[in-house]
Amino acid sequence: MTVSTLSSIPQIEKILQQAFISPYIERLSRPVVTDIVREQVQAYKKKHLRDPEGVPFSLEQLYHYIEQACWLVNRQRLQRVINGTGVIVHTNLGRSPIDAELWQSVTEVNTHYNNLEIDLATGKRGKRKGMLQQLMQYLVKGEDTLVVNNNASSIYLMLHELAKGKEVIVSRGEQIQIGGGFRIPDILALSGAKLVEVGTTNITTTQDYLDAVTENTAMVLLVHTSNFKIRGFTESPDVKELAQALPEHVILAVDQGSGTTTESMPDEPTVASYIQAGADLVCFSGDKILGGPQAGLVTGKQPLIKQLEKNPMMRAFRPSRIVYSLLEELVVRKLNQLESGQGVAESKNTQPEAVLEQRAQQLAEGFGEQLQVVRSEMTVGGGSLPDQNDPSWSVEISPENGRYKRSAEKLLEVMRNWPLAVIGVIKHDKVQLNMATISDSEIPYLRGQLAEVLQ
Ligand SMILES: *Cc1c(COP(=O)(O)O)cnc(C)c1O
Repeated sequence: MTVSTLSSIPQIEKILQQAFISPYIERLSRPVVTDIVREQVQAYKKKHLRDPEGVPFSLEQLYHYIEQACWLVNRQRLQRVINGTGVIVHTNLGRSPIDAELWQSVTEVNTHYNNLEIDLATGKRGKRKGMLQQLMQYLVKGEDTLVVNNNASSIYLMLHELAKGKEVIVSRGEQIQIGGGFRIPDILALSGAKLVEVGTTNITTTQDYLDAVTENTAMVLLVHTSNFKIRGFTESPDVKELAQALPEHVILAVDQGSGTTTESMPDEPTVASYIQAGADLVCFSGDKILGGPQAGLVTGKQPLIKQLEKNPMMRAFRPSRIVYSLLEELVVRKLNQLESGQGVAESKNTQPEAVLEQRAQQLAEGFGEQLQVVRSEMTVGGGSLPDQNDPSWSVEISPENGRYKRSAEKLLEVMRNWPLAVIGVIKHDKVQLNMATISDSEIPYLRGQLAEVLQ
């Protein structure tokens, strides 16, 4: 191929006007796509100049490369996926999706000016929290509540403000790591508090805590062991007994984690239950079982909450009006027992098994041996109810097509590359899609995509 054929490649500007490009410009922005096109044209020219006798020049081929490159970049953009894992609150998949009705209902306040920091009664500067304190009194029984960006910030704030330079007693069995590198002992060290370990991995009693208390003790911190469970011979103190036995100067703080309030999660102590047992402060995430936006909430005794709010880090941790508006709306809906206030964990965890089985049958229908309806399990996830799996139904994929037959990993990858990516799991060397986290409206799409792969 000659240099003159190469010069028949259209100008970058002309390529950008091609129909296949416009959705990518919309998704990725014009400058990003322009650079991709320029890079691909240059690479294509270079290849042909190096090997002029090789594959003949083809504009179609060049456009194909450009589209591929755009598509690869697009995959990095935050986008919807279908969750076929059966893990309802999946940290890698954005934790709790926010109810669509709830999301709609905060549009106006977020797309207009609002009273975020002005008191409409006096016209003076007001508090960011709006009605949240009041609403949370009904929901979790805490006298006062504050909001930060995530639960890790809640813990840091409590320790930094109330226990810096002092001792914090934590059970050996509760010095846990949550997800990616968030370790209770590390955050304690970072906050300037001194960790005092008590008990053993499986047994910690009220007396263990009491024996460890000194004049310099600021806090006893109970941590929900959210991502594992020790079974068998175990003991942890009764919170009420501990709350009563601790001397006045020691704050009893609980990292409850999941934010369980009105949801029917057996074995998951609610935030309110800790408050009612006498905990001074309880902190939890907004986007786990609570079902709201990413946030950390601390609730409990008003003087302590007020003190926490004065900490200079509060400025760094304070969430946006988007978070406040969603939380207020969520709590109102919870208190009014609306379905849209349930949170995804509650709504998905309470789906009848028969519905899941039916959904699996709908997906598998007509695919013969290639799609099998099988029993499976779902889990709430997100660091809640670590030991609890509820029955679910899945569709197991056994492709006859040799290309995918060899490796379940290959098939998982193919599904991630679908226009709407699907995240499946591998069980017994086969890909499964768990119906607990898939909705009826997603079934037709899945059937269409699977038909393409399996035929
Ligand atoms: C999830 C979790 C955290 C961390 O919460 P983030 O909102 O992710 O910062 C801390 N403690 C417990 C017990 C948890 O379950």
